[in-house]
Amino acid sequence: MRVYINGRFFPKEEAKISVFDHGLLYGDGVFEGIRCYKGVVFKLREHIDRLFESAHSLVLSIPLSKEKMIEAVLETVKVNRLKDAYIRVVVTRGEGDLGLDPYKCKHPTVIIIVDKIALYPPQMYKQGLEIITVPTIRNLPEALNPQIKSLNYLNNILAKIEAINAGYQEAIMLDSMGYIAECTGDNIFLVKKKELYTPPQCMGTLRGITRDTVLELASQLGIPVHEHVLTRHEMYISDEVFLTGTAAEIVPVVKVDGRVIGTGKPGEITLRLIEEFRKLVTREGIKVDYD
Ligand code: PMP
Repeated sequence: MRVYINGRFFPKEEAKISVFDHGLLYGDGVFEGIRCYKGVVFKLREHIDRLFESAHSLVLSIPLSKEKMIEAVLETVKVNRLKDAYIRVVVTRGEGDLGLDPYKCKHPTVIIIVDKIALYPPQMYKQGLEIITVPTIRNLPEALNPQIKSLNYLNNILAKIEAINAGYQEAIMLDSMGYIAECTGDNIFLVKKKELYTPPQCMGTLRGITRDTVLELASQLGIPVHEHVLTRHEMYISDEVFLTGTAAEIVPVVKVDGRVIGTGKPGEITLRLIEEFRKLVTREGIKVDYD
C-alpha cells in the first residue's frame, strides 16, 4: 500500500505525520470516505465539494485546488492498483504548538489512503439489522454542526460504544428534542405507505452523499420523499427502515428498540433501492486511468 502525504507517496509503514499535528492533538481537520467501484470513483466531485465546504467552515484552507485534489485521489487509486476500494481523504490543520491556536499551524496536512474495501457480511443486507436508540444525542448544530465532516468524531464514537455495549452494531442518535437525527456513520430513512421519510438537515444530520443518491433514485422511481421531523413512534410503526452511507451503502433495518419493523424482513422499497443503487455506482463517478 502506498499512502499520499502532501504530494508524495510513502509505503504504509513510513506514512507518518508529526505528533504536533493539530489533527491528532485536537481533531482539527476534515475528512471524506469515498468508494471506488470497478475503477470508477463514485460521486468523487460531490465528495470533494463537501470536503471543501467542511474545510471552509473551519477556516481551513486546503492547499490544493478542487481539480488538483481530484487528480491526487485518482493518482492514489492508480498507484495502489485497486479497482474496488475505500478511499479516505484527510486534511488536518497541520503542525502547530501545544496550544489551540490554529493560526500557528502554517501548513495543512493532506493525506489520501486507498485500501481494500472491508465489506459488511452479506447476511446483514439479506436479513436486516437490529439497532437501538442511545442516550448520547447528536451534536447540536449550533455547537458543532454535523454537516461539517470533521476529524472530531467523539460524539459518534460515544453513541457507537453505547450500541456495542448493549449488543448492537449501530445506534440511532436523537437530537436534543428527542427527534431522530441519524446513525453514527449513516443516515436513516423510513418507509410508510410506499413513501420515503428522512430527517431534514436542520435536525443535525450530515448531508450524506448516499442519502442524496437515494433521494435521486426515489424521484426517478416515482417514490414520494418527505424531509420531515421524525419521532421514534413514527419509526416504530413504519413499514420499512433503512440506513445509507458510503461504506454500508443501503442497509435494511428490521428491528428498532425491540420493536419489529413491518414484516420483520427487508422491505420491498428498500430492496428495490438497493438494486437500483448497485446499478448506479459504476455509472456516476470519475474513471481511474490505470494506463
Ligand atoms: N452520517 C454520518 C455521521 C456519517 O459519518 C456518514 C458517513 N460519512 C453518513 C451520515 C453518510 O454519509 P455518506 O453517504 O456521504 O457516506
